[in-house]
Amino acid sequence: MSLSGRHRIVIIGGGAAGMASAASARRADPHCEIIVIERGAYVSYANCGIPHFISGVVRDIHELVIYTPEYFRKERGIDVRTHSLAQAIDHRIRQVNIVDLAARSTYSLGYDSLILATGARPRMPRNIPADAMNVFTIRNLEDALRLESFISGGAVKNAVIIGGGWIGVLFCEAFTSRGIAACLIEERGQILPGFDREISLLAEREISGKGVTIEKGIEVREFLKDAAGMVHRIDTDRGYIDADLVLVAAGVEPVTELFAEGIPGDSSGAIMTDERMKTSIDGIFACGDCSPAFHLVAQKSVYHPLGTTANRQGRVAGENAAGGHARFPGILGTQALKVYSMEVARTGLSSLEAQAGGFRLLEALTISPSRARYIPGGCSITTKVLFDASTGLLRGAQMWGAQEVTKRIDIFVPIIHNRMTVTQALDLDISYTPQCSPLWDPVLFCLREAKRIFDARR
Ligand SMILES: Cc1cc2nc3c(=O)[nH]c(=O)nc-3n(C[C@H](O)[C@H](O)[C@H](O)COP(=O)(O)OP(=O)(O)OC[C@H]3O[C@@H](n4cnc5c(N)ncnc54)[C@H](O)[C@@H]3O)c2cc1C
Repeated sequence: MSLSGRHRIVIIGGGAAGMASAASARRADPHCEIIVIERGAYVSYANCGIPHFISGVVRDIHELVIYTPEYFRKERGIDVRTHSLAQAIDHRIRQVNIVDLAARSTYSLGYDSLILATGARPRMPRNIPADAMNVFTIRNLEDALRLESFISGGAVKNAVIIGGGWIGVLFCEAFTSRGIAACLIEERGQILPGFDREISLLAEREISGKGVTIEKGIEVREFLKDAAGMVHRIDTDRGYIDADLVLVAAGVEPVTELFAEGIPGDSSGAIMTDERMKTSIDGIFACGDCSPAFHLVAQKSVYHPLGTTANRQGRVAGENAAGGHARFPGILGTQALKVYSMEVARTGLSSLEAQAGGFRLLEALTISPSRARYIPGGCSITTKVLFDASTGLLRGAQMWGAQEVTKRIDIFVPIIHNRMTVTQALDLDISYTPQCSPLWDPVLFCLREAKRIFDARR
């Protein structure tokens, strides 16, 4: 309880999860005291927009700030403290120690409820010289400004991206649209490892077609520095690769050291919570990229950090920290991204995840038109679905194409979420108009093929 006698909620982290929890706590309790502690200069920022700032589509970084600290203070009565680092938590006396980075002073803050929304940090493979001036990672707006300022210096001709996951793929376009030659290095045998091989190969073809060199299954031996301490060449088992800039996009890990003691984490180190986003310590909640999420198909907790999940979990944590009873049901791992002019999206299990989870699934893969054939301007859409071999329950879907793929994948979401079979899904009343879809939309087309395969096996 604060001096004013009001319930005090302290939130550590002003990213998507932290600010969603602050707004939700305010909706749940108009009178409680809410304090957000953020070590950086910005809160409520869209880091998803950073590749588009680097490419030049977004001209001013401030366009990526959704709400300012002043807005939260004035309009929502939320006390946002930027340049403030939460240094330690003493949960026995419900207190957080804070460093005011601007004033260079420390103070303690008591809480009734504490929300941990510290997010994630880029993973840095051991052999990469993180201290070199031309080695970058991207997580927040400060990182984006540093990268932009280096590129604006004009000396970057070759960029090497370490990691062929979705962030690495997004930066291929960001760099090539600035006239920078990009090389994407992926140690595994395919890029976009969350997708099945057929879909990932389509993405690869699109990216290579835009002039990006893709090196898969390559071993990086050493990052060689010049006299100024900059990485200028990378030694690999396939020879040297020149680099004026290295972007490390090798995945992320949860930021948890602040509360490593006493709060159990999962195998990735992320803070475990129940469906109300409560940790095992009374009064402490966790949400967003610092915590795992329950996968509704895999039926287990997974670390799958995404902005959508961070927002949803944040809303639940905030409402409950203010005394509510919200619950977070879980995720399907739904994800979408643009690969140059194409779209790729997935939901549910991939083949690899299904295999790891011991699922016995069948698959259907189809290529079908996005519009009625007589309407010009359509394209082909590749759809893959995975379904249970004995029950026909739909377990996963992936799509690739140039038109409305990211929204079409959303049709599969309620089908999988509500545990429908391919036969039941085929009965859904999905819309049709020739300019936007054929009578058998790619979603239905693939489900029909899945049903044919399923029926043929019975
Ligand atoms: C380039 C890029 C593109 C992306 N695109 C997409 C997309 O298209 N779709 C999607 O769903 N997701 C996307 N994401 C992922 C999404 O941005 C994250 O999942 C989301 O930001 C997670 O929010 P969060 O609040 O949990 O963590 P964060 O955004 O990491 O916020 C955590 C905050 O906590 C602060 N903090 C940490 N420790 C402390 C401390 N001790 N004291 C004070 N403050 C602290 C940090 O400074 C940070 O501001 C993208 C991410 C990146 C980097």
